Amino acid sequence: MSARILVVDDTPLNVKLLAAKLARDYYIVSTAENGVEALKKVAAEKPDIILLDVMMPEMDGFETCEKLKADPATAHIPVIMITALSDVADRVKGLAAGADDFLGKPINDVALMARIRSLLRLKVLMDEWRLRETSAQQVAPFPQPHGGEADIGEGRILIVDDAPSDIEAIRDTLKAIAPHVAHVPSVAEAETALAADDYDVVFASIDLREEDGLMICPRLRSSAAGRHVPILLLANQGETERVAKGLDLGANDYLMRPFDAQELFARARTQLRHKRNYDMMRDGFEKNIKMALVDPLTDAFNRRYLDAHLPRFLQHAAEQRKSLSVQMLDIDHFKKVNDTHGHAAGDAVLREVARRIVSAIRPSDFFVRMGGEEFAVIMPETQLPNAEKIAERLRHSIAATPVPLPDGGELPVTISIGIADTRPDLESAPNRVFERADAALYRAKQDGRNRVITDKSA
Ligand SMILES: [Mg+2]
Repeated sequence: MSARILVVDDTPLNVKLLAAKLARDYYIVSTAENGVEALKKVAAEKPDIILLDVMMPEMDGFETCEKLKADPATAHIPVIMITALSDVADRVKGLAAGADDFLGKPINDVALMARIRSLLRLKVLMDEWRLRETSAQQVAPFPQPHGGEADIGEGRILIVDDAPSDIEAIRDTLKAIAPHVAHVPSVAEAETALAADDYDVVFASIDLREEDGLMICPRLRSSAAGRHVPILLLANQGETERVAKGLDLGANDYLMRPFDAQELFARARTQLRHKRNYDMMRDGFEKNIKMALVDPLTDAFNRRYLDAHLPRFLQHAAEQRKSLSVQMLDIDHFKKVNDTHGHAAGDAVLREVARRIVSAIRPSDFFVRMGGEEFAVIMPETQLPNAEKIAERLRHSIAATPVPLPDGGELPVTISIGIADTRPDLESAPNRVFERADAALYRAKQDGRNRVITDKSA
């Protein structure tokens, strides 16, 4: 996976070495000598990942990172901080500034490449959601349902390990951010646990006695329940090659024994934050799609949905040589409801009529608000007599009981319905079915309303 990487370091030799290493792996590298220049380059070049030295004149790595993470335009770009190997306080400070990862100097090549690949995978995923969200916004522009970062809240953690000391250390250290901790001794049990319950982070030992702990990566990444859960590997000193393998197989980060409590806490919180941001992105997307395709007052699909899906319905009916029936429904004298009782009463009538329509039709039917007081029901694989029976039941369910109004009163309401179908032997084109149902609805209105008229013309 190729990507653009920005290397920020005030020491020319460091920049040169790092840039050469990255270029050998076909990354596109650009460089900056300090924080100020880095912010300019990030704005101009939108890199996929940033390698950021901590000790720099003018603006140090912490401040640069904070600025990047505070700007919504750059907050999603992963930052790897480069710190002196021994300085745990710096690492923790870096993660607190919003860094996604850090590497010690001198830089271990295997760890560097593995970290870059792991963060790039995450970024590709997030970019995809961001793109989908933007597309949903373009279909129907709504204000962003959220902004900035998700709350970390209380995390749920799954530990896959057969060493009690590991489990205890993790449980103790993460008490404040993860009160729910479960542990299992094997990869198979981890899969079962994830399928049954939601977890935010998986800690997985690669040193299990009975099996190869690295199997957790391909297992989870190929299962629906485990595909997006962050995996933090637990390894012994000197296992860098196996850790790198794990990161390549889809793990997100790792910790070396003996665990440093601050580092453990900081890394867990970073993964938790990634998970929350990912969840928020996905939820925002689903909400946007729903807002774009569903009428908020009645929960019916809107015309946009109908226009997008009608060709598929018609094509399916033609291929199966089956009838598709369409009902057009209109609330009688609805204008009078609004004029006499006000818009709140009008909305109550629309909502209640929609509710009764939904309870009268079948799960396989599609309910659409065409606009104003006009609705449609698309009934796949339904012949006219059956459609008429359902329409008559629906008309009755509305006329039989007055609609309660917000002011405590109630109002008798009736609807008129026109029906048409797309029998395969009909001469008229299938896409004229709405026009014909609409013409039938018009006749129902002409004939005195509160009735069902079926199109027999075609
Ligand atoms: Mg420096």
